[in-house]
Amino acid sequence: MPTFTPHEIASLRAKYRAERDRRIRPDGGGQYRQTTGEFGYYAKDPYTERVERAPVTDRVDATVVGGGFGGLLTGARLRQAGLQDLRMVDEAGDFGGTWYWNRYPGIHCDIEATVYMPLLEEVGYVPKWRYAPGEEIRRHAMAIGKRFDLYQHALFHTRVTELRWDDDTAEWTVTTDRGDEFRSRYVVLSSGLLTQAKLPGIPGIEEFGGHTFHTSRWDYAYTGGDQSGGLTGLTDKKVAVVGTGATAIQVVPHLGRDAEHLYVFQRTPSSVDARDNRPTDAAVLDSVRPGWQRERMDNFLTVVTGGHADVDLIDDRWTATARLQRTFLSGTRAELTEEELELADFATMNGIRARVDAVVTDPAVAELLKPWYRYMCKRPTFSDEYLPTFNRANVTLVDTSGHGGITRMTPAGIVVGDDEYEVDCVIFATGFEVGISGILSGNLQVYGRGGKHIFEHWASGFRTLHGFSCHGFPNLFQLGPVHNANAVNFVHILHEQAIHIGALVGEAENRGARRIEPTLAAEDAWAATMDATAGDSFAFLSECTPGYYNNEGSPLPMNFSFGPGPIAFHELLRAWRTDGSWEQVLWND
Ligand code: NDP
Repeated sequence: MPTFTPHEIASLRAKYRAERDRRIRPDGGGQYRQTTGEFGYYAKDPYTERVERAPVTDRVDATVVGGGFGGLLTGARLRQAGLQDLRMVDEAGDFGGTWYWNRYPGIHCDIEATVYMPLLEEVGYVPKWRYAPGEEIRRHAMAIGKRFDLYQHALFHTRVTELRWDDDTAEWTVTTDRGDEFRSRYVVLSSGLLTQAKLPGIPGIEEFGGHTFHTSRWDYAYTGGDQSGGLTGLTDKKVAVVGTGATAIQVVPHLGRDAEHLYVFQRTPSSVDARDNRPTDAAVLDSVRPGWQRERMDNFLTVVTGGHADVDLIDDRWTATARLQRTFLSGTRAELTEEELELADFATMNGIRARVDAVVTDPAVAELLKPWYRYMCKRPTFSDEYLPTFNRANVTLVDTSGHGGITRMTPAGIVVGDDEYEVDCVIFATGFEVGISGILSGNLQVYGRGGKHIFEHWASGFRTLHGFSCHGFPNLFQLGPVHNANAVNFVHILHEQAIHIGALVGEAENRGARRIEPTLAAEDAWAATMDATAGDSFAFLSECTPGYYNNEGSPLPMNFSFGPGPIAFHELLRAWRTDGSWEQVLWND
């Protein structure tokens, strides 16, 4: 048990509260700008040329909206369920989702590749590195597309704009921004949560006269080099990077190494733990036998959600932190009091802050780089190179927290308070809109039976069965954490979601049913279960420093995901599939 005196506890609580309060902005989520309209060039695809094509007007068995891992996993399961004509649709130029768009220097996945990269066994691949570089992951996404024959009818650089159910033919009419209007028996929406790059609404942003881009559209024509670095175009350039989230943590070491001068504009420091990347362990290679990936995925999910596992197969900073927070204290996580959890959290964050002091030589800079909030208030990050970058003479940390961020931009650069920093290039590592794609964004209109819009169905609250489907919207499924599950390794959640959708569709095909949809009673029952099992994440997030995890300081008072956690949720789904609950779904000819 970590020991803290009452005075230490009180002063840590006060410090966290003060640091949070000075970052809260009255404009909350309204402080950002979308990369549309006059800022549309920030979102343009720099990787694949858009090719004109004739509109598509055919008929397919299933359409999957989104070619990231959620869509690919579902495509694979629908293929296994026996569907022939599958159409994948994505706004990107190829498969990969976030790994298609994000190709910045230093990009890696900070979750071990053996549990993050899906369908390794099916594709016959073993990752080369413990934490895979982005390009290896992107190529794996393409390999899944090839392995399950998902390129066949795929439409890239295409956005689905409308889905309309035709009850006579029991099909959806799918309309896109390329003039397509085709029919599909099933539709699955997997359009991702963090997809649209966002910009800070900094006054004067449009006046900046130098070069500028967002990290998710890296401009290698300007910087030179590639994802492994070597940014030779920057050796005579003064560069600004705005933001210090998980993306910036990976980019900054490369910019620091190659730019003439780098200014890092920070508002809230990230927690930066050790990385220790290395080639995939021999022990992992030896363990490759049927079921090996599933075993590692399940083990990781158990350990990071505070469950009991005899052995920690992944044994990295994610799992060590989760284990630390368990072993500091007696019993299982579920038995911990809020105060015990808080003490374990203080101990974890003290360790992270001590690491800053150990690495950063200038004590004033070190102080600015220390995160003062609870571990899961912001996305934890991992790097062995980020903190040492601030020991370089050509790197300046500009802390903007006292000003709520950057004050303004000018034709020559960036102003914070009264100080202007003249730069040649501004790189925005400012993250993504949350949930702007898919149904909830309002960019995709969905009309179910009788022409009812899905927002009408949700007029008095979100109604689904398990988050996947709605009454009156037959043969339509969506992936995502709402009314479903969430986890650090979200690909694991997507994996289970794809299995469930594949099972539902497979069952419909076996029964010869042309329509499947939940009953209204099943939706009511699920809403009641969500309420009865709701966790207390609202209370936790309300105390956190602002960011996209808590809607910039104003967490939404809704039961986002199943309270008892992902493992319990997956067990619930498995039991549902085997105990006859299929009757919660209408199967109609
Ligand atoms: P984030 O939203 O996490 O970070 C945005 C950054 O921009 C924050 O540091 C934010 O500060 C800063 N910012 C915003 N507005 C301003 C402003 N006006 N002035 C100064 N700074 C500003 O985006 P990322 O792209 O870093 O990460 C997004 C998500 O992508 C991660 O949380 C993670 O889920 C995922 N990711 C995963 C990786 C992996 O390895 N698995 C790697 C990279 C990303 P503040 O915190 O104060 O708001």
